[in-house]
Amino acid sequence: MHVDILIKNANELITLAGHSERPKIGNELKELGIIKDGAVAILNEKIVALGKTKEITKKYDADEMIDAKGKIVLPGLIDPHTHLVYSGAREDELTLKLEGVPYLEILKRGGGILKTVRLTREASEDKLCKEALDRLNNAMINGTTTIEAKSGYGLDTKNEIKILRVYKMLDEKHPIDIVPTFLGAHAIPPEYANEPQKYVDLIIDEMIPKVSKERLATFNDVFVEKNVFSYQQGLQILESGKKYGLIPKVHADEFNDLGGAKLGAVVGAISADHLLNSSLEGLKLMAEKNVIGVLLPATSMVLMNLKFADARRMIDLGVPIALGTDLNPNCWTENMQLIMTLAVYFLKMTPAEAISAATINAAHAIGKAREIGSIEVGKKADIIVMDIPNHQYIGYIFGRNLVDTVIKCGEIIIREKIIRKKF
Ligand SMILES: [Zn+2]
Repeated sequence: MHVDILIKNANELITLAGHSERPKIGNELKELGIIKDGAVAILNEKIVALGKTKEITKKYDADEMIDAKGKIVLPGLIDPHTHLVYSGAREDELTLKLEGVPYLEILKRGGGILKTVRLTREASEDKLCKEALDRLNNAMINGTTTIEAKSGYGLDTKNEIKILRVYKMLDEKHPIDIVPTFLGAHAIPPEYANEPQKYVDLIIDEMIPKVSKERLATFNDVFVEKNVFSYQQGLQILESGKKYGLIPKVHADEFNDLGGAKLGAVVGAISADHLLNSSLEGLKLMAEKNVIGVLLPATSMVLMNLKFADARRMIDLGVPIALGTDLNPNCWTENMQLIMTLAVYFLKMTPAEAISAATINAAHAIGKAREIGSIEVGKKADIIVMDIPNHQYIGYIFGRNLVDTVIKCGEIIIREKIIRKKF
């Protein structure tokens, strides 16, 4: 049989098969479903066969042959937590942080999130699109094939909608698939500083119905934190989103335990993210309700307090965990390989666990595990080749781009580190 692409001779074909219905928990994270000397056949954007090279090459031939001898083949990486669209940068704040200037002082000087909100409100859709395309290219070069992306730097109806429309444009323009999340509840905008509940009402009465009517988002997210949104406000916003078909997500317990993990379980969220200060009760509830814990170790790094989420405890408790970049102006990385490295050294996850968390479990965290996240017959052909002899090199060699080939939707986008066309 003739197919479009045949990948053969992979030292390790990492399939992650068998977890499309339920995320991996506990020891399952270590099982990668490896086929040694593996091959994959791709036809019409889909995976049509996989197995040992000898068997597959007997049955199939292809226009494009990729010889993965000495390399590993795995599903495209999935980034389940980004704030992809924002305008401008805040590079000056890094020096201020190192000089010990507190964040509140940076805010007073017109910096921090308020600066990003100001610049994002001023920017046109085209400008936002251009800035984000550059980030998407960098994500792709580093092996990411699907990304979740949040609004949240508009903080008024017009600009939140603008950002979500940009996600639609980006999804059409760029090979990376974008799963959009409405995060109107990212911060209290300056106009509502003295009456935050009024902003909550605006989100519920105006923004959510509009986002839903225009079908601009899959998920509805809220930042539950001291001086941001309370547990009760979070509950209110997520419950009202549910009535409009938006699936809840939570920024939970990043700086303080406000019961964010518990909120995720109570409201039936698909994921609760950050989880640096979650209570045992909250984590147990997440395990019970299968709420994915999305861990964001780069955020811990940029906060410079060296406090990381307790991944080992979560794995022991049976919380399904995934990894994400948290790409935003205060944590600017598009690189999921870096995230896996940080997970190895600071979350004490093994390379195998990090791979599961950056592929199939990340797919679960964005509701896409039936389409992507593993190499199985019928799934979308989102596949990467890494130039390392086995998966234990992930985290071991770091700071080098290990991805040499990216196949997105059955098309070779990057071949041996050369991008074939520009986006
Ligand atoms: Zn975030």
